[in-house]
Amino acid sequence: PTVKQVALNDLVREMAILCEQRAKFVNVIIETSLGNDIPDVAASPSELQQVFLNLINNALDAMEPGGGELDITTRFENGTVVVSIADTGCGIPKANLSRIFDPFFTTKPVGKGTGLGLSIIYGIVNKMGGEITVRSALDKGTVFTLRLPVAGGIE
Ligand code: ADP
Ligand code: MG
Repeated sequence: PTVKQVALNDLVREMAILCEQRAKFVNVIIETSLGNDIPDVAASPSELQQVFLNLINNALDAMEPGGGELDITTRFENGTVVVSIADTGCGIPKANLSRIFDPFFTTKPVGKGTGLGLSIIYGIVNKMGGEITVRSALDKGTVFTLRLPVAGGIE
């Protein structure tokens, strides 16, 4: 996949629109808070779309049933582009936190989850030279934070 300069806020807006229908269906409000002057990131656009789709769908799953709120925030901080994806879902038990990026780790019923989403995301983000971290509070929610490298030569 070809690495390009990607306008992150545009990509986030597209992904939010793409997920809007499912979000409505599961009673989730998607809020975006997109920073000004976010430099382009260096990424394969289709891979970065996959990263967002997976994170958003995991968040929607975590808020079933009952719904909640999904907040996607972008900002430029210390020379990197930072995105956080925060849900008000079930949270991740401490014992699972070290395993969620492992291939085939899933807590979902057979047929619902493959356990591959986060391991694929982890690979994509690392290949980009970025970083993905997670913070979670049981029954309160989960925040995934992406730190992505700025595309060189611009800004
Ligand atoms: P899958 O979605 O197929 O289960 P993933 O690799 O995407 O596989 O996620 C692995 C596991 O991490 C999920 O089964 C779930 O237990 C946990 N998880 C991921 N994202 C969230 C989230 N936003 N809230 C709660 N748990 C999550
Ligand atoms: Mg998943």
